[in-house]
Amino acid sequence: MDTPRTNESNCWACHASLAASPLLCPHCGKVQPSAGINYFQAFAAVTGGQPLLTLDLAALEREFHRLSRKLHPDRFARASEGEQAWSLAATALLNDAYRALKDPVQRTEYLLELKGQGVGEQNAGRNKSADRQPPADLLEEVFELNMQLEELRMNQKMGEDDPALTADLTRAQAHFDGLLAQVDSDLASQAALWDSGDDTARAAALKSMASLLDRRRYLRNLVRDVKDALATPAL
Ligand SMILES: [Zn+2]
Repeated sequence: MDTPRTNESNCWACHASLAASPLLCPHCGKVQPSAGINYFQAFAAVTGGQPLLTLDLAALEREFHRLSRKLHPDRFARASEGEQAWSLAATALLNDAYRALKDPVQRTEYLLELKGQGVGEQNAGRNKSADRQPPADLLEEVFELNMQLEELRMNQKMGEDDPALTADLTRAQAHFDGLLAQVDSDLASQAALWDSGDDTARAAALKSMASLLDRRRYLRNLVRDVKDALATPAL
């Protein structure tokens, strides 16, 4: 959970406020213990310590490189054992945080996880059946598509070529690609609502994003299946 740690924390060495830089004291440069700091807080200089979904990616990258240099374990070779361990932990956290935050989908998954609505790949166990369950509005299309895929695989096994079927599947792939693009655009709208909304709007945006991510994962698997099937050469 995202405890508002950064707002209350001070440097263990000089007691300066760590609000804008929880991993590294902005005043004396000492590395700080990073337990309990979330990814958004790790990049407080960019996010203000808030779980925001609209981020300045150039600023994120600059801050990542700046902190990577300053937190590098080599710099703490002569520091106390505690500081050495903290620099390792802070570096690991920084790498994980950067990887997750620079990607809009992973950023959203992380936010949902933070808010107890995790749907990320790492939580797939809970939603595994959802991954293979078509969204209700796509049931018919997916059924049709699976029949065509089955037919294609059968043809491939028999060494037969059916250009009309290939054309249908190529069209289907483009169609589902389009739906995927729509999901991404809907996710961006919900992200904007999350960033600017009050508590009620935010709760609604979280819910929408959770189901959009489920839909996205489903569509992505589907598009991959079609692509793979079309790329398989007939024997
Ligand atoms: Zn300090």
